[in-house]
Amino acid sequence: MLIAGNWKMFKGPGETAAFCAAFLEELEDDRGVDVVVAPPFVSLQAAVAELEGGPIRVYAQNVHWEEEGALTGEVSRSMLIAAGVAGAIVGHSERREYFCETDETTALRAAAALESGLGVIACVGETLDEREAGETEAVLRRQVEAIAATVPEPPEGLAVAYEPVWAIGTGRTATPETAQEAHAFVRGLYPVERILYGGSVKPENAEELLSQPDVDGALVGGASLDVVSFAEICRTAARLSRS
Ligand code: PEP
Repeated sequence: MLIAGNWKMFKGPGETAAFCAAFLEELEDDRGVDVVVAPPFVSLQAAVAELEGGPIRVYAQNVHWEEEGALTGEVSRSMLIAAGVAGAIVGHSERREYFCETDETTALRAAAALESGLGVIACVGETLDEREAGETEAVLRRQVEAIAATVPEPPEGLAVAYEPVWAIGTGRTATPETAQEAHAFVRGLYPVERILYGGSVKPENAEELLSQPDVDGALVGGASLDVVSFAEICRTAARLSRS
């Protein structure tokens, strides 16, 4: 089971250091769960400094496929590795919606990061309009096949996150059955080891979502900003994977 916290554009270096120190105490025991935190770029080193040598890994929220260049605002794989970062989220729906990222750039980012030995959480998921138009499977197929085209044999370091866009930050969670159906569909397309669910995961709904047979963890936004909530979700995952 993998639980990853996507902090989006929240927590500068000071808040990040304080969170990590408090979180390590609150979590106590991580047996059975892999935990990742993904702070903003400027806070990565603060997180690495607090968490170095421990079980919790630090991911960036994005990574570029080029090594260097005139690419204002982007960060390369080797820069992340030099900063002690273990991986990156790619293709988050907010990147796709507000920053024009596409299936192709998501796939390029994923392939390059994996090639450098970074872990990757590659996000896919349909919008509400697409779901209501009966296009969920077609959208997931298009998004997953773009990743599969650049990474035909998914390595262990790759996880796919199914994040229905209508459930992100809205408080509207997919039912466990809806999540399971989408995860099983993705698994049928691509033999990736871990498929995470993302979209308003909270301590109150984590157990029913994480109990689904094809749900191998969660990508958590809002609830990962709070030490107590995030630790509770991680403990639920640990308990389920040990049982
Ligand atoms: C996310 O940002 O990936 C996410 C799932 O956010 P939230 O948990 O707040 O819906």
